[in-house]
Amino acid sequence: MGIRNTERRPGTAGLAAFLLIALSPLAFAADAPQIHERILTLDTHLDTPMSFGRPGWNMMDAHTVAGDLSQVDLPRMVKGGLDGGFFAIYTAQGPRTPEGFAAARDAGLKRAVEIREMVARNSDRFELAFRADDAARIADAGKRIVYQSMENAYPIGKDLTLVKTFYDLGVRMIGPIHFSNNDFGDSATDPKGAEWHGLSPLGKEFVAEANRLGIVVDASHASDEAFDQMLALSTAPIVLSHSSARAVFNHPRNIDDSRIVKLAAAGGVIQINSYADYLMQMPRIPARETAMRALGMKYGPYRTLSGERFKAYLAERHAIEAQYPLPTASIDDLMAHLLHTLKLVGVDHVGIGLDWDGGGGVAGLEDVAGIPEISKRLLAAGYTEADLARIWGGNALRLIRQVEAKAVETARK
Ligand SMILES: [Zn+2]
Repeated sequence: MGIRNTERRPGTAGLAAFLLIALSPLAFAADAPQIHERILTLDTHLDTPMSFGRPGWNMMDAHTVAGDLSQVDLPRMVKGGLDGGFFAIYTAQGPRTPEGFAAARDAGLKRAVEIREMVARNSDRFELAFRADDAARIADAGKRIVYQSMENAYPIGKDLTLVKTFYDLGVRMIGPIHFSNNDFGDSATDPKGAEWHGLSPLGKEFVAEANRLGIVVDASHASDEAFDQMLALSTAPIVLSHSSARAVFNHPRNIDDSRIVKLAAAGGVIQINSYADYLMQMPRIPARETAMRALGMKYGPYRTLSGERFKAYLAERHAIEAQYPLPTASIDDLMAHLLHTLKLVGVDHVGIGLDWDGGGGVAGLEDVAGIPEISKRLLAAGYTEADLARIWGGNALRLIRQVEAKAVETARK
């Protein structure tokens, strides 16, 4: 598939073009939710499994960001028309010691079990997906699609046999690196700078093992050099599961145009992120940061809190936010990244990974219920329902299918 096919094709019916011009933007608002009912809609980076162990929290209940800071649950997925996505097993980078690796492995295994338990408890509404073909079948059965991914391969430690262990549990996409350099390679955001100048020797073996098993290699959070090496070494296309465009906002977590073009030329896909700090220049308010740090020290991770203690935490948090208000990115900022990338490499190589429950969300798009707003704007920009089908899931599924096929092909040799 070509990588510069964003030109609207003039061959399509003149009547459709006339209607497109004649319709008001409000008409797109009506179209978008209906389109979400017809197309497969996946998000490739959902940090929602961090909520699965929250005391009293249930995926089946309707929550609000204001009420408990969560952004995804079944009622909001239904409202937003999200069919599913990659539910991440995220592990914060900790000490690179045998004890640290063992603790990370156990935390990763526990999170994988929590994902399974959520699906098992709600098996009439959710189903685990392992292959590209599973998505349409699960959606047709009226259920939501749960692929699993791993963000930060810290749980693998230095034991690559664990990649197979997590594959057997259902993991089909892995990003080896997170905020800091680790034993697999360099991070885009480690203040210490490069440790390996890309991937470590273990990181290179890791890419080969992911290819062998049929796991999508995810370069989000990796340094530019590590991205280049993943792209060069991987025998199958790779993904950026939640990254945006450096040409729109210069941040190390975003990626430059020449690398996006190379990713697309190799069959890969960039899934645009909604993490506000990466979309625009956010003002820094040191007093707010200090207050938030102190709040974190006082209460510990908020997802471990329940009842009155969570309420007290939330009240103090809201008070800090009111005292030091911070402007945030808007949907327009998010769309600038999405539309730039679409223009650069075309509708076959761009998708959506909004980092819900992991820091994503912008003003006017605070949780997953609001995602038809993105589709509305894509329609207004001239993209068609067929384009939306690619962006919202078709491209990600094609990528999974290619990675599966490559693993099978390699096994035959
Ligand atoms: Zn992330």
